[in-house]
Amino acid sequence: MNFTYESNAPRVIFGAGKLVEISAEVALLNIRKPVIISTKGQHELALEVGELLGQSATIFAGAVMHVPTESIAAVLRHVDEYGSDGCVCIGGSSTIGLAKAVALDKGLPILAVPTTYAGSEMTPIWGITRDGVKVTGRDTRVQPKTVIYDPLLTLTLPASISAASGFNAMAHAIEALYAENKNPIISLLSETSIAALAASLPVLVKNTQDIEARTNALYGAWLAGTALGAVGMALHHKLCHVLGGSFSLPHAQVHSVMLPYSLAYNSQHIPEAMKAISRAMHTNIADVPGGLFDLVKKVEAPTALKDIGMKVEDIEKAAEIVMSRPYYNPRQISRSTILELLENAYQGIRP
Ligand code: NAD
Repeated sequence: MNFTYESNAPRVIFGAGKLVEISAEVALLNIRKPVIISTKGQHELALEVGELLGQSATIFAGAVMHVPTESIAAVLRHVDEYGSDGCVCIGGSSTIGLAKAVALDKGLPILAVPTTYAGSEMTPIWGITRDGVKVTGRDTRVQPKTVIYDPLLTLTLPASISAASGFNAMAHAIEALYAENKNPIISLLSETSIAALAASLPVLVKNTQDIEARTNALYGAWLAGTALGAVGMALHHKLCHVLGGSFSLPHAQVHSVMLPYSLAYNSQHIPEAMKAISRAMHTNIADVPGGLFDLVKKVEAPTALKDIGMKVEDIEKAAEIVMSRPYYNPRQISRSTILELLENAYQGIRP
C-alpha cells in the first residue's frame, strides 16, 4: 500500500430539517453581513434563508448556469454595495459556483446549502465562463467552510433532474476508485456512495417525496463530492467536460449517458475498482458497465448522446478535442478507441 492522503473537508451538518441551524452556523463563521446567493428560480428559498438570518442578510438571486463573468460582476457589485463579509449559497452547483467566484475575488468565507447532487460544495474546484469559454482551477480559498445538507430541500428537484444529477455524483465516486492519486479512505467513501445512490435513485424517481430515499441520495452525493474534492478524475470527466463545454450538452445528463461507456472502456484495467462497484451495485462483476446502463434506464435518465442534443457530425470533432490535451486515464486513449466509445454512446448501445 502506498498513498498520500490530505483532508480539507468542510464542517458538515446533515439531516432533514437542519436548515434551521443556519443562523448559528453563520455566526460560528463570524459572518455578520451575509449575502445569500441563489438562482431566480430559487428566490423563494433564498427569502426563507433571509428570514432565518435576520436583517443583516441581503439577497442576490442572479446565479445562472456556467457562472458567466457578467453574473460575477453583478454579485461583486452587490457585495461592495452592502459590505457583505460572507456568502451563503443555496442551490445547485451553478449557484455554489458563483459563491466560489466571490471567494476567489474577495476571499469571503462560504456556507453552502446544496439542493442537487452535483457535489461542488465539497471541492476546492472553481469554474467560470469568460466569452463563452469555461475556465476551471483549484484554490483552497473557494472551498466552502461549512455545508448544510438538508434532504427536505431536494424534494422539489424533479425526478428527471434528480436521476441525472445522481449519476453526476455516481461519476465522481466511480472515477475516484481508479484515480491516479486514489487512497483507501476515499475508496471506502466512494464504494459507500455508489451503494447509497444505486439503492436510492430508483426509489426517489418513483416517489420524489420519499424522504428516506432523498436522505440516502444526498448522503451518497456528499460522499461523492468528498471524493471529487480529494482525488483527481479521469477519462469520464474529461469526456463530459468536452461534450458539455464544446457542444453545450446538459451537464448532468451527459454524465448519465457517458458513465457506462467510460467504465466499459476502462474495465479491463481497473480490477479493484470493478470489484468495489459490483459489490456496491450487487451486479455480476463481468457485467458492471451493463448493470450501470440498466440502472440509468431504470431511473429514466438519458442513455444516448443523440437524445440530449449531440449531432452525429460532431462526434469526430469531440474525439479530436479529447485527444488534444493529455489526461490521466488507467487505459491509454487513442483517436480510434475514443471514436468508437463516442459512437456507441451516441447510439445508446448497452455496453
Ligand atoms: P444547477 O446548479 O445548474 O441547477 C440547475 C437548475 O435546477 C437551476 O435552475 C436551479 O435553480 C434548479 N434547482 C437546483 N436545486 C433545485 C431543487 N432542489 N428544486 C428545484 N430546482 C432546483 O445544476 P447542478 O447540476 O447542481 O450544477 C451543474 C454545474 O455545476 C455545472 O456547470 C458543473 O460544471 C458544475 N459543477 C462544478 C463542480 C465543482 O466542483 N466545481 C462539481 C460538479 C458540478
